[in-house]
Amino acid sequence: MLKKTDPAIIQSYLEDSSNFSGGFTDGVYVPENENEIIEAVAECNAKQIPLTVHAGGTGTTGGGIPFGGWVLSTEKLNKITEINPQGKFAIVQPGVTLAEIEAAAAKEGLLYAPDPTEKNATIGGNAATNASGGRCYRFGSTRSHIRRLRIVLPSGNVLDLKRGMPINFPPPHYSMPAVKSSAGYYSKAGMDLLDLFIGQEGTLGIVSEVEIGLVPALQATFDLIAFFPKEESAVDFVLEAKKNNDPLVNFFEFLDNNTLQMLKASYPHIPEGSKAAVYIEQEITAENEKTYLDNWAKRLEKYHVPLDNCWLAADNAQKEELTSFRHAIPEHVNELFKKQHLVKLASDIAVPAQYCKEMYNFYDLRLTTYDQRLFYIKFGHIGDNHLHVNLLPKNEEQLKIAQDLIMQFIKKGISLGGTVSAEHGIGKIKRPYLKEMYGKAGISEMRRVKRLFDPNQILGKGNLFDF
Ligand SMILES: Cc1cc2nc3c(=O)[nH]c(=O)nc-3n(C[C@H](O)[C@H](O)[C@H](O)COP(=O)(O)OP(=O)(O)OC[C@H]3O[C@@H](n4cnc5c(N)ncnc54)[C@H](O)[C@@H]3O)c2cc1C
Repeated sequence: MLKKTDPAIIQSYLEDSSNFSGGFTDGVYVPENENEIIEAVAECNAKQIPLTVHAGGTGTTGGGIPFGGWVLSTEKLNKITEINPQGKFAIVQPGVTLAEIEAAAAKEGLLYAPDPTEKNATIGGNAATNASGGRCYRFGSTRSHIRRLRIVLPSGNVLDLKRGMPINFPPPHYSMPAVKSSAGYYSKAGMDLLDLFIGQEGTLGIVSEVEIGLVPALQATFDLIAFFPKEESAVDFVLEAKKNNDPLVNFFEFLDNNTLQMLKASYPHIPEGSKAAVYIEQEITAENEKTYLDNWAKRLEKYHVPLDNCWLAADNAQKEELTSFRHAIPEHVNELFKKQHLVKLASDIAVPAQYCKEMYNFYDLRLTTYDQRLFYIKFGHIGDNHLHVNLLPKNEEQLKIAQDLIMQFIKKGISLGGTVSAEHGIGKIKRPYLKEMYGKAGISEMRRVKRLFDPNQILGKGNLFDF
C-alpha cells in the first residue's frame, strides 16, 4: 500500500473547507481496497496510533484534519463497482465523488437524489456526516438513501450492515430532535445498527463500501427564482406554499438581502429593489403540466411578485444558470472571507417546521441589533426549516460579537427542539454546540458507544467530543 510521509506532500491532508488550522500527521495511508484499509487500521490499533479518515476534504468542520497519528486517505478507493438499473441501486467505494455517482446514474436514467451542493465531496464523507442538500426536502437526507455499508472496525473486523439488522446493545440514551440532523450519534429505539454508522464522522469505523438507492431521473423540472421586495415576505411565501404539500416540489431555497447584494457584482441582472429570493424546483409530469405555472403565478401574486420579476428556466442551459447562481453562494462567501476577513463563523441549525418563522425572526432581530458593520448572510434550505447564517468578522471585536451571536442562535435552536447541525456535522469546530445540545450525560452516552467499537480510541481523534 502506498504510504506518504514527505512533509510537502502531506500538507494538503491538513486542510479542509473549514479553514481550521494546526493539524499535523506523521504520514498518510492510501489504500486501494478493503484489505489495505484493514492493514492500516491493524497497524494503528496495535500501536495505539490515532487514525483520521480524510476523503474529499470539503468538510466544513475540520473532521478530516488529523491532530497527530496517521491519516487514511480514500482518494484511491474511487471505483463504482455496480450500477443496477433494475434494482435501482449502486455499489461504490467510499472515495467516489458525488459528481461521478450522479453522472453514472444519469447514464442509466437514474438519479442519486439527496443533491448536496458540493459535488467534489465523496460518498464516504457524505455517509460519515449524513449530508443533505436542497432536494432532501422531497427525498430525505443521505441516511434515507443508504441501503448497506461495509465498515472496517479498529479491531480489523468487517461489518456488512444492511437495513433491517437491529442494534444489539442499548443505543445512546437521549432523544434526537424531530428534524434532519447530523449532530452526534444517531439514536432511536429499535434502530438499525447501520444508522449508528451514518453520521459517525469517522469515529467508530471506516466506511469501505456503500450501497445507495437510486430513483428514476426526474422527468422534467420547472425552476424558478422569485425576487421579493421584502425579506420577511419571502419566508412567509415559502411557509404558505409548503402547506400545499405538493409531492413534486423538490426544494425551496432562500437567499436574504445581503446574499443578493454579495452576488450582485457577478449577477448584475438581479432585479432592482429585490430584498430576498426564493428558488423553487418542481418536477413536471402529466399530472401537473397544465396547472403548475398558473399555480405559482397565483401564489406569488399574493406577495406582489409578478412572474416577470422572476427568473424561469425553460431549458437545460437556463436551468444550469439558476443552479450555478445558487451554488455561487458558498463560493462567494469563501472568497470574501479569504480577501478581508478574520474567520468565517457558520451556523447549520434546523428547527421543527412550526418554529421556522420564529427562528428567522430571532436571526433577523439579533443580526440587525448588533454591530451593523459585521457582515452576514442568511441562506439555504428553508424547505427543511434549515437556514445557514454565515458571519464574517473583520477584527477581534467583531469576532467576539459573532461568537456570541452564534451561541445565542445555538441556544435558541435547541430551545425550539432543533439541531445544532442539520447537515455539516460537528467535527472539531462545533463540539461546544453538541455539548450544549445533549449535555454532559449525552456526551457520556456517545463515549460509551465509541468504546464498544474503538476501545483504544484511535479513530477520528478530536471529532465530536474528547475521548
Ligand atoms: C462549497 C461547499 C458546499 C457544501 N454544501 C454542502 C451541502 O449542500 N450539504 C452538506 O451536507 N454539506 C455541504 N458541504 C460540506 C461537505 O461537502 C460535506 O460535509 C461532505 O459530506 C464532506 O465530504 P468529503 O468527502 O469532502 O469528506 P471530508 O471533508 O474529507 O471528511 C468529512 C468527515 O467524514 C469522515 N469520513 C470521510 N470519509 C470517511 C469514510 N470512508 N469512513 C469514515 N469516515 C469518513 C472524515 O473523517 C471527516 O470526519 C459543502 C462544502 C462546501 C465547501
